[in-house]
Amino acid sequence: MIKRIVSLPGDGIGPEVNNQAIKVLKACAEIAGFQVEIDEHDIGGISIDKHGIPLTESTIQACLAADAVLLGAVGGPKWDTLEGHLRPESGLLGIRKALGLYTNLRPVKVFDALKDASTLKPEVISGVDMMVVRELTGGLYFGQPKGPRTVNGHDDVVDTMAYTEAEVERIAHAAFKLAMTRRKKVTSVDKANVLATSRMWRSVVERVASEYPGIELEHMLVDNCAMQLVRNPRQFDVVVTENMFGDILSDEAAMLTGSIGMLPSASLGESGGLYEPVHGSAPDIAGQNKANPLAAIASVGLMLRYSFGEHNAADLLDKALEGILSRGWRCADIPLHATVILGTEEMGDAVVEDLYDFARLNNGAKEIV
Ligand code: NAD
Repeated sequence: MIKRIVSLPGDGIGPEVNNQAIKVLKACAEIAGFQVEIDEHDIGGISIDKHGIPLTESTIQACLAADAVLLGAVGGPKWDTLEGHLRPESGLLGIRKALGLYTNLRPVKVFDALKDASTLKPEVISGVDMMVVRELTGGLYFGQPKGPRTVNGHDDVVDTMAYTEAEVERIAHAAFKLAMTRRKKVTSVDKANVLATSRMWRSVVERVASEYPGIELEHMLVDNCAMQLVRNPRQFDVVVTENMFGDILSDEAAMLTGSIGMLPSASLGESGGLYEPVHGSAPDIAGQNKANPLAAIASVGLMLRYSFGEHNAADLLDKALEGILSRGWRCADIPLHATVILGTEEMGDAVVEDLYDFARLNNGAKEIV
């Protein structure tokens, strides 16, 4: 079985962390007994330099034909003065849209070894393991009308929050299905006391919930959710919400873990999937072998789970990451309690080594060459 992966390294530290993620993916594939074929394409600033635009048709077509896409990061000061549609970040929005990726998953898991790295007290964040499911292609960011206009002779500007029932239904199904594989609780976040879209959201989520009798559903207003995330984050399992609320809450939830260099994400549609670290291109440390590749590597774990159904390999990777952190091996971004500081490349090698060790310990089920 061959899995075709498109790698979009992008800019800054993107290529450095993507290289490590690919190294780890190849090791996981060998252990799990499948093959990967990697095809590299341009996106972001490098695409602007080479082709004049941040996202070319050939990159889109390659991604559409792939089983999954692994993206590094885009952007940097070199391209900051370009017009909006020519900026590296518009390549990112373009590829998500072209692939129809309406579900964004951001796992927020506090590793025991890193619980002191958070700005919150260890006893508050210890054991946090939640998944934010954000609707990615609807709501306020896409609704029409949008932008400046003239009303009764006066200048005006408008954004529109719009959702169809079908859009809410599909993201709700994604959340409930995910909850079935986890602790079986869904928190649906809205602003139903004020917004009509939220009232529709709530009734659709309730209807979908009736198809998943084993799952506990609670509704929470977004302002309360923002507060509960820092008050008692352990109460959450799967949090599902619309685009803008998800944008804000997932960044808030992300900070519980203490480092942006640790956070992976997955964007899923009807097929395929795009996997990327949450962080940006970190131009300040690019090319210095200082970037923490663990977010990109953890994104491979999500790919194994959500695109390939390779749960054993994903579990093994989780174990390897936990093992490395509990030994105090860190990159320079999380120096706290470090026993050794590794470079980007060395951290990738360490994960691969641990993967093979764990696979041998587990007696690997399959023979590892
Ligand atoms: P950033 O995430 O790139 O960096 C913020 C800080 O975190 C920097 O100090 C950086 O050195 C550090 N950092 C980030 N990732 C790290 C890692 N893996 N290991 C160690 N340290 C890490 O955010 P920014 O500085 O606001 O943006 C830089 C560029 O990246 C901008 O052009 C921005 O538009 C772009 N960006 C891209 C994405 C994306 O591609 N998904 C996301 C956010 C920002």
